Amino acid sequence: MNKGLTASEKARADELDAHARAGRTLPLVFEAPRRGKPPKHWADLAPDERRPAVTAAGLPGFRASQFDAHYYKQANTDPATWTDLPASLRADVAETFFPPLLREVAVQTADEGTTVKTLWRLHDDNLVESVLMEYGVPGKPSSGTGRHRATLCISSQAGCGMACPFCATGQGGLQRNLSAGEIVAQVVAASARVRLSNVVFMGMGEPMANYPAIMAAVRRMVDDIGMSARGITVSTVGLVPRIEKLATEGLPVTLAVSLHAPDDELRDSLVPINTRFKVGQVVDAAYRYFETTGRRVSIEYALIRDVNDQAWRADALADVLTGSGRGAGWVHVNPIPLNPTPGSKWTASRRRDEQEFVRRLNARGIAATIRDTRGQEIDGACGQLAAKQK
Ligand code: SAH
Repeated sequence: MNKGLTASEKARADELDAHARAGRTLPLVFEAPRRGKPPKHWADLAPDERRPAVTAAGLPGFRASQFDAHYYKQANTDPATWTDLPASLRADVAETFFPPLLREVAVQTADEGTTVKTLWRLHDDNLVESVLMEYGVPGKPSSGTGRHRATLCISSQAGCGMACPFCATGQGGLQRNLSAGEIVAQVVAASARVRLSNVVFMGMGEPMANYPAIMAAVRRMVDDIGMSARGITVSTVGLVPRIEKLATEGLPVTLAVSLHAPDDELRDSLVPINTRFKVGQVVDAAYRYFETTGRRVSIEYALIRDVNDQAWRADALADVLTGSGRGAGWVHVNPIPLNPTPGSKWTASRRRDEQEFVRRLNARGIAATIRDTRGQEIDGACGQLAAKQK
C-alpha cells in the first residue's frame, strides 16, 4: 500500500516498523508535542460560537444553521455544491469555515466490502486511520447476521504516547493530538457513506489524553449529527482522573477500559500506565462510572498466548471485577485474540485457552464475548492502524 505516500512518509513508516520489530520500550508521553495547529474548521465551533463566527465573516447569522444542515445532517463537506448559498460566496465559505482537514490517501476493503479502512493525511502530513464496519448487510454473509448496524472506529491522536508493547500504534510514539474538527471529520466522512449506529474511539491514540477535543467531538456527534451517546464508546488505558471526569459530563457514553491483565505485575509491562494507576484503582474508577451513569462498562482483554490467557488469570480477573461487593452485572468483558504486530514475540491465544478463559468468566456470572476480528487482512484490527504503510 505504497500508493500516495511521499518519500518522507515512507521513511517514517519504515522507522515505525523497525521500532516495533526491535520490540523497543518507549517512555510514557502525556503532553503531545506542540506542532502547527490544524486549520480551524466549522466542526471546531461549539453551537454558541457559530452565529458570531458567521457574522464576524460578514454573513447573515442564519447561514450558521444552513452550514450545520449541510455539514452535520447531510454529511456534505463541499460548499461548492451548496445551492442555497449564493455561488459567489461558496469559495470564501469553503476557505474560511471548511478547510479540508483529512485527505484520503488510501482505502482498503475486506469482508465483501463491509469493512473499509481509510488512511487519512492531515494538514501537516501526519497519518491517521478510521475503520468502518457494517454488520448484518443482506447478501454479505461475512458481515454477520442480525439487524443492519454500522460502527466506525476512529483515531483521537496521531500516534499514541501510552507505549503498550503489543500495540503497533503505541510502539510508534505520539505525534500529536487531533483537533475536535479532525475527529469529527472522520465521523462525517463515514456518515456520507452510511448511517452510523456506533462510533468507537479504538483507532489510533489514547482518547483520555486528548480529553477536551474528544469531548467536543462527542458533543458534535450527539447534538449536531444526532447520534445516541450510548452508541459512542470511549476506550482508555485507564487514566483514572479522566474516567472520573467523564462520569461528571452527564453524557451516557460507553466506557471501555483496556485492562489486559488482572494483576499489577503483568499489567505494569503490558499497559505501562499501570505504573501510575494500578489495576484496583482503574477497576474502582470504572465501577464508579457505572454507578454514576448506569452504563455497563466494557473491559478489553487482548488474549496473548501463554502471557495473560491462563485459566488462573481468568479467575483472578473475575475476582478483581466482582471484588468489593461489586457483583458481575456492571461489566462486560471483551476478550480479543491478539493481533500480532510485525516481528512481535507474542501471538494470539490458542482457541481452547480462549474458550476456557470465557467459560471461567461466565461461570462467575460475568458476561464475556470474544470480540470479532474483522478486517485482519487489511490490518484493520485495533492497534494495527497506520503503523504499517507498505
Ligand atoms: N488507547 C485506547 C484506545 C485505542 S486501542 C485504549 O488503549 O483503550 C483500542 C483497543 O485495541 C485497546 O483495547 C487496545 O489495547 C487494543 N489493541 C491494541 N493493539 C492490539 C493488538 N495488537 N491486538 C489486539 N488488540 C489490540
